[in-house]
Amino acid sequence: MYYNKEELERLRQKSEEYLKELEQKEKGFQYISQDGKQITCLHCNYDRFDKGTALLNTRGLTFLDLDWLNEGATTLTCKRCGFIHWFGLKVTSVEEESTK
Ligand SMILES: [Zn+2]
Repeated sequence: MYYNKEELERLRQKSEEYLKELEQKEKGFQYISQDGKQITCLHCNYDRFDKGTALLNTRGLTFLDLDWLNEGATTLTCKRCGFIHWFGLKVTSVEEESTK
């Protein structure tokens, strides 16, 4: 297959961006909760997390009068100690917040 110089350069940049993204992901992200406070780990005070979402079983929660949880929750897993934090409200990453 033939690539010209510009295409190769573009590919190289793309893979660099990709690697940077991976590295960032590996380090984790910083997050801000709905009340504007930056989130730190309750257990070890670290400030970088893996974000995830958790959907919860509908029937059991209705029975327990916890319907608000059916909206789904956001989980932030501490990158250092693995402590999982649950948020019923939206959390924003610091990167997203700075582009607002
Ligand atoms: Zn922690």
